[in-house]
Amino acid sequence: MSDIFSFRGAEGTGWSQPKPAIPPQELLSEVPASLRREKLPKWPRASEPELVRHYTWLSKRNFGIDTGFYPLGSCTMKHNPRLNEKIVQLAGIDRIHPLQPDNQVQGLLAIYFEMQEMLEICSGMDQVTLQPVAGAQGEFTAIRCIQEFHRKNGEVNRNKVIVPDSAHGTNPASASMCGYEIIEIPSGIDGRLDLNALKAAVGEDTAAMMITNPSTLGLFETEIAEAANIVHSAGGQMYYDGANFNAILGKTNPGIMGFDAVHYNLHKTFSQPHGGGGPGSGPIGVKSHLAEFLPTPIAGRREKVDSDPELLDGDYWYFWKDVGDSSIGKVQQWNGNAGAVVRAWGFYRRYGKQLEKMSEHAVLNSNYLRHKIMNPSEDTKSKINAMPTEGANSELVMHEFTLSMTPLKERNGITGKDIAKRLLDYGYMSPTLYFPQIVPECLMLEPTETESKEVLDKFAEDFHAILAEDPELVASAPYSTPVKRVDEVWAARNLVLRHPSRPQE
Ligand SMILES: *Cc1c(COP(=O)(O)O)cnc(C)c1O
Repeated sequence: MSDIFSFRGAEGTGWSQPKPAIPPQELLSEVPASLRREKLPKWPRASEPELVRHYTWLSKRNFGIDTGFYPLGSCTMKHNPRLNEKIVQLAGIDRIHPLQPDNQVQGLLAIYFEMQEMLEICSGMDQVTLQPVAGAQGEFTAIRCIQEFHRKNGEVNRNKVIVPDSAHGTNPASASMCGYEIIEIPSGIDGRLDLNALKAAVGEDTAAMMITNPSTLGLFETEIAEAANIVHSAGGQMYYDGANFNAILGKTNPGIMGFDAVHYNLHKTFSQPHGGGGPGSGPIGVKSHLAEFLPTPIAGRREKVDSDPELLDGDYWYFWKDVGDSSIGKVQQWNGNAGAVVRAWGFYRRYGKQLEKMSEHAVLNSNYLRHKIMNPSEDTKSKINAMPTEGANSELVMHEFTLSMTPLKERNGITGKDIAKRLLDYGYMSPTLYFPQIVPECLMLEPTETESKEVLDKFAEDFHAILAEDPELVASAPYSTPVKRVDEVWAARNLVLRHPSRPQE
């Protein structure tokens, strides 16, 4: 325990503990000499107030959804309700071990089962597994199931996966990790899927098509059912990247659109502190013909019988069930990221049917912000150096939209990156930058449903203020952040992967 007194314990250690019952010297003789430390490790020796100040200082150098508006397109950075944290810290969830027998963890199993069932309903799939811990891992898992499906049918020559050029980078990466060759098809002039390009790409070697709807341009793919027909007629499978579920929950679903498999990003759609690599949850759902290949185990439920212990009110008994011999095995230790599943379950149980409203407001906020940015008042307009153009040619966008900073670049050399950096000075997280790659100088904005009209109005006002600023000022931003512009090329070429306090080998 860290010491609250400034004199830092008798040995200057920074912590105080009761005297050990056996003197350390006596214990030491039990440890083989080869395993003993010669020198004490260089642990920091800080008292409690110093420790608190250190972490508070670190947290102030950082930016998060709790600090300010975070319009990071495709990442769905919404507010994380604190109720989720209360639920996940209940002893029946927080203090259990994955090796405990089913009769001791009925509560968690019930949550898993309910979450699987809820995701099945909202996606129109037949079976869900909660095992993958990221969207990308979900993609990999589902593509592996599709691969086994083709193998079982003797169709081993299906070695190509089709992705549109607006796809998230994880799609081709996951498919190529499964050994597939990637066929990229160009978007049509309106930014949507080009059915002729798809027809030209499919064939007897097509294993699957991977696509997100709405696309990363924020456009709903209106011809998705026809696309599914084309791929299915050629014997391929349809994979739905569900990262953009925030736009469609309760309105439509990938099952209706003709998909065979889907991943969900629980940490995006169902709230969960994320970013910086974790913690996430990327469950997948599949139609019944793929269910036998899912990773094992999944949560099962049956009616209770008299011999079952009366541990949980209700009529059901929950258990971990094996998928069977055709399963691709496990993709993650234990049962996935249980904390993330429970938080997402808390979010869904709190909103229930209102989740449909969530999607409506996410789409409304996105269209509102886009309209506000693209239509400044005459007075504001007269001060602006150059206006961005829209990334997609469409009346309506879904939960996110793209802007191209090309006119600014042509006018006075201001890039998308410059605008993104200057936004940091105004207290905002940067929008997603240079993605999707088909929009030049792209900024991709996703406000989410948890932001108010006032926040969006202020953001649009500040965005216009930046467009009116001296280009030289904007080009050297940010000024207010602990770290200014970093040299990304240098950083990538000179990777430091070891903490400076560890000895270099
Ligand atoms: C975030 C995202 C992914 C990947 O999900 P991770 O959980 O980050 O692995 C895939 N596709 C799209 C469109 C995304 O936005």
